[in-house]
Amino acid sequence: MSADCIFCGIVDGEIPSRTVYEDDTVLAFLDANPLAPGHTLVIPTDHRETFQDLDDDLAADVFDVLHGLVGTVEAAVDADATTVGFNNGDAAGQEVPHVHGHIIPRFEGDGGGPIHGVAGRRPTLSDEELDDVAADIRAER
Ligand code: AMP
Ligand code: ZN
Repeated sequence: MSADCIFCGIVDGEIPSRTVYEDDTVLAFLDANPLAPGHTLVIPTDHRETFQDLDDDLAADVFDVLHGLVGTVEAAVDADATTVGFNNGDAAGQEVPHVHGHIIPRFEGDGGGPIHGVAGRRPTLSDEELDDVAADIRAER
């Protein structure tokens, strides 16, 4: 629990939410400023700021609930598809510093785009540079 965290306030019941799922480790509720009807947020009940702060068990719990809810949300609002994602960290646009996955229902012709639109300028990387990046990622693991 983090005293000044909105989502911890929701977990504690101090801030109201439209809860759609809850268990011991995960809570899901409607986004208060939805991008589409059914826009749902899935959070760990314990305060963790970013993805990297989740241990394996909690990450699995959050993913399980996301996985279970995507189809449920689509069916409930009669969506054609969903965009599922996390803004992970300030530079990625994370505004609430408590890990949350977005389930955003999508509709044919809704005017939105794919997640390819979230980054800025695309880099131009040679095959060698791509090989190096892949090697760097493997080396970090
Ligand atoms: P992000 O930019 O990924 O941090 O998204 C934060 C999301 O939390 C936004 O979509 C907000 O609309 C949503 N949000 C902020 N406060 C509340 C709240 N009290 N209840 C539900 N959703 C909220
Ligand atoms: Zn929190």
